[in-house]
Amino acid sequence: MMAGRRPVVAGNWKMHLDVQGAAALARDVVRATSLARWCDVAVMPSAPLIAGVARVLEGTSVEWGGQDLAAEAQGAYTGDVSAAQLVSLGCRWVIVGHSERRKYHLEGDDVVKAKTVRALGAGLTPITCVGEQLSERKAGQTLHRIETQVRFGLGGLAPADAERVVIAYEPVWAIGTGETATPAQAEEVHEYIRRLWASMYGDTLAAKVRILYGGSVKASNAAELMGQKDVDGALVGGAALSANDFGEIVKAARV
Ligand code: PEP
Repeated sequence: MMAGRRPVVAGNWKMHLDVQGAAALARDVVRATSLARWCDVAVMPSAPLIAGVARVLEGTSVEWGGQDLAAEAQGAYTGDVSAAQLVSLGCRWVIVGHSERRKYHLEGDDVVKAKTVRALGAGLTPITCVGEQLSERKAGQTLHRIETQVRFGLGGLAPADAERVVIAYEPVWAIGTGETATPAQAEEVHEYIRRLWASMYGDTLAAKVRILYGGSVKASNAAELMGQKDVDGALVGGAALSANDFGEIVKAARV
């Protein structure tokens, strides 16, 4: 983490909880993070739970967002959630291109790009995810894979959007597995993404863009990961379902 870039700690609640459970967790997250002024804190519940969570978080320092959005603005897209609907729920954030969306809903970089642009156009801050498979890492193709995802999923943005978008590096082999990238493995990719951003958008925007790490971030490893120069926060899955653990991760984001 470097002074000048405000850290982000975001909790991806995935397809967990119900209306009551989500409201209770949101209340506990407010308590556990109430003194955190040093970073952006956000939680992403499933779409049907957002309204209830918003009622709890309104007026607190914890923001909220969606886990996905439709690439289309509106229309006959059964089951999908639009950017405008998220905005009307008070969302400030939305995760885009999570590896579970890429895997189970076959989202490619073109869809990820369309969704990212849609989110930005609606005033949401997308947290757009990239990350290599274990087989790609073993084959020495990690940086090549990341380059493809960044160029095709996040290329051609307007400068203001290239500054606002948040990138999450989430090695697929580290998501939900308990296996975390080492701080050095994370920093290697984060630094690479920042250099790539510089080549795409210039040094000034590259110095500003926030790049989060995700993949089995826990209270016990968060400080070391976020202590890396180019790691500007965390996208947290499993540990975000515990307000205490999430609160500890937020504390670890203090520069
Ligand atoms: C995620 O879903 O983005 C994630 C990083 O999950 P976990 O922390 O459980 O690995």
